Amino acid sequence: MSKVHSLRKKANEAAGDDLRGLVHFCAESGQIWLHEHRMLLVHAEAQGGMRKELIDTLGMDRARGLLTRMGYASGMHDAEVFCIRKQGASDIEAFKFGAQLHTLEGIVKVTTIKLDVDRAKGRYYGEYLWENSWEGQWHQHHYGAHSEPVCWSQIGYACGYTTALMGRPILYKEVECVGMGNKNCRIIGKPLEEWEDAADHARFFAPESIAEKLIDLQTQVVQLRSAISEKEKLPADVVGNSPSFLSAYGLLKQAATSQITVLLLGETGVGKEVFARTLHEQSSRSNESFIAINCAAIPHDLVESELFGVEKGAYTGAIAARPGRFERANGGTLFLDEIGDLPLSAQAKLLRVLQEGEIERLGDHKIRKVNVRLVAATNIDLKVLVKEGKFRSDLYYRLNAFQIEIPPLRERKEDISLLAERYMEKYSAIQGKKLRGFTDKAKRALLAYPWPGNIRELQNVIERGVILAPSDSRIEVDHMLPICGNEQSLEYSLDSNGSLNIDQPETENDLFKAVMNGVMTLDQVEAALIDAAMKKANNNLSAASRILGLTRPQFAYRLKRLSENDQDGMES
Ligand SMILES: [Zn+2]
Repeated sequence: MSKVHSLRKKANEAAGDDLRGLVHFCAESGQIWLHEHRMLLVHAEAQGGMRKELIDTLGMDRARGLLTRMGYASGMHDAEVFCIRKQGASDIEAFKFGAQLHTLEGIVKVTTIKLDVDRAKGRYYGEYLWENSWEGQWHQHHYGAHSEPVCWSQIGYACGYTTALMGRPILYKEVECVGMGNKNCRIIGKPLEEWEDAADHARFFAPESIAEKLIDLQTQVVQLRSAISEKEKLPADVVGNSPSFLSAYGLLKQAATSQITVLLLGETGVGKEVFARTLHEQSSRSNESFIAINCAAIPHDLVESELFGVEKGAYTGAIAARPGRFERANGGTLFLDEIGDLPLSAQAKLLRVLQEGEIERLGDHKIRKVNVRLVAATNIDLKVLVKEGKFRSDLYYRLNAFQIEIPPLRERKEDISLLAERYMEKYSAIQGKKLRGFTDKAKRALLAYPWPGNIRELQNVIERGVILAPSDSRIEVDHMLPICGNEQSLEYSLDSNGSLNIDQPETENDLFKAVMNGVMTLDQVEAALIDAAMKKANNNLSAASRILGLTRPQFAYRLKRLSENDQDGMES
């Protein structure tokens, strides 16, 4: 052993003795003190177990951050001890003190290799040897050799202690580590900005709220669970929760992944086009065009040129060549609504597209290849049309390969409220109006009505309700009534003046239902009866009162009240 080395060893031991004097075991109070800081004497193995559990629970990266910050706090506290105990000490002494404390606390044996420090100028470079690193050994024990240094809390300590004393951020890195399989650990510390990859390391000192992260994760789990339990995450336009609707939607999803021709069945207004569009959006063609055409809306003699295109001069008025819907839908999806209305000649050409993928424009003999997925829809029974000779049976079988029946709204009553809310939101946004929903009576009326026009009718009714309801109020029956009431299935209706149209073939039962379902108020029924009686009696009060079994004054009183109500209504 060289003379210098043995002198240094003696000096270290002396310093250690000095430090040991700072530690007090107070058996009476059950406390251990390092100067005025309460300390703990814990089992290294238990601490190692906790460290492992942190890693296994939070992951390596997050555990590293947590342990680094914990070490950093210890280092800061020990720097405080130094400042109080060793005022006037030299810069070198200041850092020796930290190394000795770290050793005394049983964490690691620290030997200074190189130290160049000037606190006044903020200059720092420190290199230390770490032997018997507690953290490195336990990491190695639990996880084997690691690809990176692992003495996180100890590095944190060195950073905390040095940073506190230097008054500027000092970052240490392990250049060798027991946890990586090296014999000992070796650390180098210098000001943060002198490290090229400072940011990578500095992030471990920034506290992140584990609690917030956990709450975030918990929220995600809840959302995922509810998404799974809802069976389907439906696209924005597809609204429904009823079994019949979800089963139709399930078929759509199956068809979407294939190229099969789909036939959508269902009454007018059930949402066939929304289904067709959704099918397109969920298919591999979603980036290409979706073209929709209603066969019933185009005059028969124009259907073919619309679908297949036309060459210049093909017929009078064909002044320029233009592609048809099939060409425009090339690569994508073509939706043919009300296909039962397609004339027979067009049916033959359609069959050819389906079989050969070929079209010819009108007045042209050039064959054009098209790649179009066809979705057709009808609200009439094509089989009947086939029997009547109005629809080609070969085309029918071709189309019929995959059919999806979309249920009418009256068979999915549980979806009415959902749809009504959705349309209220939609039209409120369009109208820039804030509404607070529907009155209970309005909700009852929506549920009681049989909706022969299906979703389209519901949509119109709600749109009207949104327009008529005052801002910040609820939509009332009256705001929707004129549309609710003009369908054949409700045998009462209001005329353009807003009074009940008594000429309709109504029965007592219908009026009873109207009142019970909240579609009409009792006052409205009374008004209607009085009105009807007056009409029947040619405005003769006595005759009208007799029809209703009232005395003339009784009748006059009611009539007067009615006209007052009317005026009130006009004033408000
Ligand atoms: Zn290490």
